[in-house]
Formats: sequence, structure tokens, C-alpha cells
Amino acid sequence: MENKPIAGRLKLLAQLMELHEQNSFKIRSVANAAFKIDKLPYQLATKSIEEINQIDGIGKSIAGYIKQLLETGSITDLEDLLQQTPEGVVEMLHIKGIGPKKVAIIWNQLGIENTGELYYACNENRLVEAKGFGIKTQEEIKRVLEFRMASNGKFLYAQTRHEANELMLLLKEMFPGALIEFAGDYRRCCEVISELTIVLGTRDAELALSSLSTSALLNNINVKDCHVNGETANGLLVDIVVTEKRFFYRDLFTYTGNEGHVEAVLKRIYDVLDQPESEEFIYKKASLEWIAPELREGSSFIDKAPLPDLIDLYDLKGSLHNHSTWSDGINTLEEMALYCRDEMKLEYLGICDHSKSAVYAKGLSIERVLQQQEEIDHLNKKLDGFHIFKGIESDILGDGSLDYPNEILERFDFIVASVHSNIKMEKDKATARIIKAIENPYTTILGHPTGRLLLSRKGYEIDYEKVIDACAANNVVIEINANPLRLDLDWRWCQYAIEKGVLLSINPDAHRVEGFLDMEYGILSARKGGVTKQNCLNALSLNEIKEVFERKRSGQAVKN
Ligand SMILES: [Zn+2]
Ligand SMILES: [Zn+2]
Repeated sequence: MENKPIAGRLKLLAQLMELHEQNSFKIRSVANAAFKIDKLPYQLATKSIEEINQIDGIGKSIAGYIKQLLETGSITDLEDLLQQTPEGVVEMLHIKGIGPKKVAIIWNQLGIENTGELYYACNENRLVEAKGFGIKTQEEIKRVLEFRMASNGKFLYAQTRHEANELMLLLKEMFPGALIEFAGDYRRCCEVISELTIVLGTRDAELALSSLSTSALLNNINVKDCHVNGETANGLLVDIVVTEKRFFYRDLFTYTGNEGHVEAVLKRIYDVLDQPESEEFIYKKASLEWIAPELREGSSFIDKAPLPDLIDLYDLKGSLHNHSTWSDGINTLEEMALYCRDEMKLEYLGICDHSKSAVYAKGLSIERVLQQQEEIDHLNKKLDGFHIFKGIESDILGDGSLDYPNEILERFDFIVASVHSNIKMEKDKATARIIKAIENPYTTILGHPTGRLLLSRKGYEIDYEKVIDACAANNVVIEINANPLRLDLDWRWCQYAIEKGVLLSINPDAHRVEGFLDMEYGILSARKGGVTKQNCLNALSLNEIKEVFERKRSGQAVKN
């Protein structure tokens, strides 16, 4: 067992001891030990009990707990306390902002035993009456609960990445000879993840199940048939499917899904599929090429031969939609350019600060546009083998027009047109407003087409077909905004755009240098949409894209 789960179990023990009002000296020593163990530079499991005993801040009784945990997978005192505490109350201990003392009051004085009841109590202002709670604390608890309920156990793909990889490392350490892979929504790179699925193929599934059931790998572990369920520290549900090694690829294929896809593939297989030696073998049996997990949504790519050669991060040669300190960015134009060149190994940067109507984001006045363009000219002379394109993220105004007079629009190399204000509008109105902007000869790219923020804002509805058709008719490129909250154009519409000959542009909308790293999420989303590098504007080299911008400015087709 790693130090982290040991620390986690001790932390829970300290919280429960506090909840049950045990000796405060002992509580502090357990809590301190948990904190300490989490930071140790070596693994406790490799030390003898005597050595653990000697560690500063651990002491005899805690060393005893650790020994018990390492040997049996649990601590009797902890199990006893868990027995005495309703499950919903234990869950409250995981809520940010309420410590065990407050949970004790909520439970004992208000008689609340789960988070649903707690939320209801906040609405009725009941917490304010209890000792130690003010209106502020109540509002904070309500906010946290609302967030948990709104996201309903759902996470952005990017939010699950770190925990998923950590868990994978722990599993690989725990089962060195086993076959272990991600499956489910996570393997398919879905934009929102509600459960992390992992398939584990081992020579002795029974043994693996029993050691997982007593491990502290996850919170609230529960074993049923071949499934080990639990959740990570931040509440992400996990399903580990334990199988015999010989069934691994069959199960990996099945649990990667989605259901519609699995069904459609299996329908094409006439023999029994018992112990396939690889996923390729399964697809071959179905007379298909191996299909990348990202594309396994229903049957959409099953009859598509040949399959698209999916775009990769290193296919991107530049990044087009980004902000600097000229508007609401954190880094200067030069810092953004140098990071792109030196860290991201890109050939060009498009800078698209906000336009003048975006007052909240320090949108550029005409005068500031001219000053910025001077700085770009200066930097372009200085930056060897790298080019900054003069762009702007022009607000699409209420009537669909762009934010500057034509003589200013003319001065940009390219223009990203996006909706930022008055986003509450009916589908027809939104569609008409956006199409008007697409028809503007100065528009190069339609930015984040729906204004959605995944898990928190739905965005305005548009008639996708009409908008994409308008882009095709007017040589306008559509953005796949790579920010993990946005990821629109939604991947479900990429194939329609590609069929219509519309190019896509994968942009991080970076507001600081680290923002460029989001390009990877845009790539994953594009891959799900079956996008190849030929479909992507910023997969073009510097010289190629210069030509494209020139052609667009002279009113010719963008496409090669
Ligand atoms: Zn924007
Ligand atoms: Zn932007």
C-alpha cells in the first residue's frame, strides 16, 4: 500500500474521532501523523514496525494502526467508528468547508443524516439557528452542495486526468503482471466523465478481487461480481472490472463501448468470441479495421472505409485564437509568442485580443489596435523563424455585425468572430445573428460557436446545419475551442462540417502561457469528431497559412 491511501485512512479516522468527540489530544496526533505520512519521501510499506515507530510524529499507537492497515487492509478502530456513523454523515465529511465539528452539530442537533436533507435545511434557513453557523456559512454550504448536485458526480475530462493516471499507476504497482487499461467514457475521451472504468486482466481474478476489496485505493469500496466500485478523493466514481487475463481483450472491447458500437460490431461476428488475443482480432472477425476508441460512438464509423487518419497534437503548426495583456490576458504578447515558439514548438501565433465592445475584458479601441499592430511588426522583426499574425476576436454584435469599421477590419491578417454578450436568445435569432457575421467578408473563423460552458452553462441553441452551410458558402472556418469547458464546435458536428468542406481550427483561447497546453483537449475532441490534419486550418505550415489568409482577404476560397 502506498503512503497516500494510508494517510487517507488515518485522516478519516481523525475526522470520525472528532465527530464522535473523542480525546482531542489523540485526534490531533492521528491528524498530524496523516499529514506527515502524506509528505514522507519514502514508502512506509518498505519499513519495519520498529522503524515506523521511530519516525518523528508517529509514535507507538499510530504505528500499530499502520501495521494493522498494511497487514489486514483495515483498522479496527476506524471500522468501529464507521459502523456507528450513518453513510450520509460520512459523506458530509468529504464536503469542502464543513469540518467534523460542524458535521457533528448538523447530525446531532439538527438530526440531518445526508446531503439531500442538508441542502433542504439550507433552503429553509435552518442552519442559521444552530450554534457556530452564520448566514455566510450556510450560503457557502449551500453553494458547495449545489455545485455537487449540479455536476451530479460529473467531471470535465480534463478534471479527471490527474486522478485517473494516479490510480492507474497504483494499480500497475499492485498488479505488476496484469493487463490494465482504461475503458468506458474515459478511454473514448468523452468531454464529460461520470465514471472512470478500468479493466484489469489477471491470472487469478478471485485473488485480485479480494485484495482490491480490502485496499484503500478508493473511498467507499464495494465489490459486486467482477466489479470493484468506489470513488476517488474528489468524488469521481470508479468501476474496476476484474477479469481473467484470457478474457481481457473481450472485456476491454465490451467495457470501452459505447453500447451501440459494441452491438454493431458484434452483429457482424458469427463465431463465438471467447478469448480474442487483441482488439484488432475482434474487429478483424467483424471484417473491420481496428477503430480508435475515440470513434466508438454508435455505428457512425463502422461503415466508413477507410477510417480517417486522426489528427495528433504534433500536427498543429500554430495556435490562432489567443489573448495577451493588451486585453484580458495574463502574459504579454512577447511572452505568449516565445512560449509558443520555444515550449510548444509552433511556427506561428495568432493574437486575437477582445474587440472594443468587450469593455469588461479591456477590449481594444481603434487606437489600441493600431498600437498593438505596431508592436507585432516590431516583434516579427525580432523573432527568428516565427510569426505573429494580427488577429482580433471581434464581438458579434446584437445585429450580427462586427465590432470595427471596415477600414480597421481590413488591417487584420484574420478575424475570429464570437458571441460574448446577449447570449440568452432564441434559436432562430442566434442562428440569424451568427450567419450575418459569417457572411461578413472579413470573418475568417467562427469562434466557440455555441457559447456553452460544459457542466455549467448550456449556451445558446443554433441551427447547426444552417450555420455550417453558411460557413461552407462563405469560406469561413469553424473553431473547435480547446478549453476543456467549451470544446465547441461539438465533436458530433465535425463530420457534417467536413462533408461540407468546412475547415476546422483547434484553438486554446489561451489567456496565459499555460493555456496553450489545452490544445491537447481540443485535439481529443477533434479526434472524436474524426478530424484529420487535412481538415484543420492550423495544421498548415506558416507559409501555407500565410497564403490562405491572403486568399481569404482577396475574397477567394480558404480551402486548398
Ligand atoms: Zn471568446
Ligand atoms: Zn477568446
